[in-house]
Amino acid sequence: MKTKTVEAAPTVEPRRAMRLRDYEWLQALPFILVHLAVLGVIWTGVTPAAAITCFVLYLVRMWAVTAGYHRYFSHRTFKTSRVFQFVLAFLAQTSAQKGALWWAAHHRHHHRHSDAKEDIHSPVQRGFIYAHVGWIFDHTSDTDLSKVKDLARYPELRWLNRYYLLPPILIAVIVALLFGGSGLFVGFMLSTVLLWHGTFSINSLAHVIGRRRYQTRDNSRNSMTLALLTLGEGWHNNHHYYPGSTRQGFRWWEIDITYYVLRGLAALRIVWDLREPPARVFQPASPSTEVEARAAPHVASSEITGTSSSSARPAPLSGPLDSSASS
Ligand SMILES: [Zn+2]
Ligand SMILES: [Zn+2]
Repeated sequence: MKTKTVEAAPTVEPRRAMRLRDYEWLQALPFILVHLAVLGVIWTGVTPAAAITCFVLYLVRMWAVTAGYHRYFSHRTFKTSRVFQFVLAFLAQTSAQKGALWWAAHHRHHHRHSDAKEDIHSPVQRGFIYAHVGWIFDHTSDTDLSKVKDLARYPELRWLNRYYLLPPILIAVIVALLFGGSGLFVGFMLSTVLLWHGTFSINSLAHVIGRRRYQTRDNSRNSMTLALLTLGEGWHNNHHYYPGSTRQGFRWWEIDITYYVLRGLAALRIVWDLREPPARVFQPASPSTEVEARAAPHVASSEITGTSSSSARPAPLSGPLDSSASS
């Protein structure tokens, strides 16, 4: 259940699996078993309570993944109290996607090297399956605290990151006690599997299919379908263009349910200082405005916004704005 932390920045890039046997199969075992456990429904059937639990746990945990892991811990796009910060980390971790510090450290690395050779989950570099799921079991289980110094100063977050399986196990036990076998297999296991692949689709599909409004250096795209499935994360090209914004749907019609809920929490003063995108995101983009936007001092650290260190790298696509997906 424990995860290792690395206090100093690693001096060498971790090795990458070239063959199937290079992956950490022991780490992957729980992931595979949860997929297989969904088959338990053959014996228990689907009760109405289990179906409702599946739906609710998908929505609540997807919200926690995008509002917590992504928009708060990875990008610090809004502020909250220390207590609600812990609640966000705990809720996000019920999704069984490791610790909040682990998630944020890897995600910041993704923004710094999006679709470049160093990117840990780029479908452009290592193919779709590797970007979707392979990278998680490719010697990436350590948390590099040097990438999340702003979060690592909270001992309660480091503790939760270390015992990252506690929240999902607690939820599984509660659901099983309340709703029996069907609750466990459908309510918890199935919703967890759907949640995993919904989240992972942003690393894989959102860099492959959809439309590109901004000529970012990566291959990120906007997709209404993915935005609906992931409560707003499908506006991924918007997000790569301006990662410091709380909302990822920049236009009124770009549905972003995570943001709407955050606005509700802001009205209750549970969260505050939600960051808006600057006016220039509504103007035609060019490579020069893109660099300017990504270097904007809207938060203290470029590490948080995901400002690329590979600034000399040319844009992989240079087609017209809002070009349709070519792959
Ligand atoms: Zn991305
Ligand atoms: Zn991001």
